[in-house]
Amino acid sequence: MSDSLITILTFTYAHEAQIAKTYLESEDMPCYLKDEFTVQTYDLLSNAVGGVKLQVRESDAEAAYRLLDEGGFTPEARQKAKVDANDTPASKNEDTEKPQCPYCQSTEIAQPKRSQQAMAIGILLLGFPFIWSSKKSHCFDCGRDFKMGDS
Ligand SMILES: [Zn+2]
Repeated sequence: MSDSLITILTFTYAHEAQIAKTYLESEDMPCYLKDEFTVQTYDLLSNAVGGVKLQVRESDAEAAYRLLDEGGFTPEARQKAKVDANDTPASKNEDTEKPQCPYCQSTEIAQPKRSQQAMAIGILLLGFPFIWSSKKSHCFDCGRDFKMGDS
């Protein structure tokens, strides 16, 4: 197996690459940054030179990438972190994404959970599922009930 250096990750900014490098070194993984100084001097050139390249010995590549993945540095790990973050209620502050009351445009509305529960109760009480009622929303501001469009 050859021990030439290969690039396992590319970073847009030097400081990001530096953090990843420090992380790998803390795990006793020797690694090197390429084009670090070019990018540090000219951040705008980062894309032109292809970012800061994090390099390891070819024989270390697999282990290094696994470490980086665990550390949250790989695109896969970042993507996962993004998805996790979107699941938390705290990040749901994009008002444009929120459903609105068609009468007063308030976002203070109770949304029906399109749950199987409502259907199950319907079947239980009435002998058939009342699907239509499971799509009704209630506005707390004007007190009206309305159906949310699927659009
Ligand atoms: Zn309303």
